[in-house]
Amino acid sequence: MITPNALQIHIDDAGIRYFDAPEFLSGSMPPNLLANALAVLELADMVRRYVDEPLILTSGYRSKDVNRAVGGSSSSSHVYAAAVDLRVAKAHLRPAANLKLRLVGALVWIAYPNIVQGFGCYAQNIHLDVPLPIKPRRWWTSTRHPRPSTAVLRGTWMRELIDCTTPEEARAKLESGSF
Ligand SMILES: [Zn+2]
Repeated sequence: MITPNALQIHIDDAGIRYFDAPEFLSGSMPPNLLANALAVLELADMVRRYVDEPLILTSGYRSKDVNRAVGGSSSSSHVYAAAVDLRVAKAHLRPAANLKLRLVGALVWIAYPNIVQGFGCYAQNIHLDVPLPIKPRRWWTSTRHPRPSTAVLRGTWMRELIDCTTPEEARAKLESGSF
């Protein structure tokens, strides 16, 4: 099994700067999931560079037991160490930074179809996962937001962005920082 200390060595070797092993992994995980973990942490690092704001990794690898306890789907990418949930620090006080995180999440999903498989957009955090053979490529917004009208609005801008923006346009937007 891979412990947080062992994972940290791989994280340092891969040049992942903004997230460390204890944020991603409490306890240990099977060694066959290491490649997924490093791929999704590299993705998180890329998102952190584009957002240019401190981010908190709220969930990475979940054992099946932990996943059940938090009410995750039994086929959740978190169980395969292939997903991260991210939010900006003090999100409720920083709506502009929070919006930027959600925009960057949508843009990387559009821009890098071979790197990002799933994108979930919630009121104060995003979920990203890397490709797994068992999963379709997909994105979704929260249906459990306390104000349904806000959720609908958010779904509208996201749908327009995702339907109307090409991968090339999304990469250009990310590189220019104009979002
Ligand atoms: Zn998640």
